[in-house]
Amino acid sequence: MKNSLSIGIDLGGSKILGGVVDSTGTIIEIQRISTSDESGIAQNTIDQSGIEVIHDIARLINEFSARYPISSAGVAIAGFLSPDRKFIGINPNIKKLENFPIHQHLVAATDLEIFIENDANAAAWGEYRFGAGIGADPMAMITLGTGIGGGIIIDGKLLIGASGKGNEIGHLPVVDQGEECGCGARGCLERYGSGNALIRSLQRIVHGRESSDNRWDDQIEGSEITAAALSGDKDALLAFDEIGRWLAVGIQAVSTMIDPEKIIIGGGVSEAGDLLLQAILRAHGKINPSNQLPEILIGKLGNNAGLIGVSELARGN
Ligand SMILES: [Zn+2]
Repeated sequence: MKNSLSIGIDLGGSKILGGVVDSTGTIIEIQRISTSDESGIAQNTIDQSGIEVIHDIARLINEFSARYPISSAGVAIAGFLSPDRKFIGINPNIKKLENFPIHQHLVAATDLEIFIENDANAAAWGEYRFGAGIGADPMAMITLGTGIGGGIIIDGKLLIGASGKGNEIGHLPVVDQGEECGCGARGCLERYGSGNALIRSLQRIVHGRESSDNRWDDQIEGSEITAAALSGDKDALLAFDEIGRWLAVGIQAVSTMIDPEKIIIGGGVSEAGDLLLQAILRAHGKINPSNQLPEILIGKLGNNAGLIGVSELARGN
């Protein structure tokens, strides 16, 4: 339906973001529910938390459906999904929902057909339809949050893969026998180029000095490092240089494989904007001085890319 309203829900490690989105990608209403305190999914403490999260999502969908003429609903989820998108697979972020038949539960609780997709794939679709990647094909998206997500669009379609795990750019192997990753493998890009890696990098830089100053405590947030880097803090800039080096390796690999027209970078770490892009481009110049990279852009939809993208996928566009 051309002007129909669609619901988009983005289930992350610590929050549920839900919104009603029109067919131009504009959010009509948005609500946010924190899950880390109430249900414990982030801390992984309460057995019932999987069901509680489903109840929260269903309640949001039913509430929106009661107030708007809703035609479709989609849910974007961090982590691996089964190829048919009916079950949650290995999920380092939301352990209590591993192997959970999420589609069946949500359909039963809402009386709506529910479209389910990985959150980075959904974000890629959002940017492709309405954001920084409009018309770019192939297009790759890299979401830099606590972990790294990826989405690839080829011939106007999301690449899903034979077992549903296509696009997982965060799990590109970049170090042989490297650090252990939440996916069970070693040396994944996510261990070296994510928001969590940015924090570990800064801690190494500060602790590696003989006379350590105390500007940074052990509970550093990625957003604080971004703010410091943007105001010229040398340690924070070095930490960005370090993740930039690893991201350049990952981007080089993606570019070699699919030769994208554009690569879009989203997620919380992308709020560093040009500073992050420059760190990646400097590193790329050293890795492969003669090779031109595709255009790399920061996403336009910010934290709402997944919600907007999955609402559009649910609509069938
Ligand atoms: Zn991994």
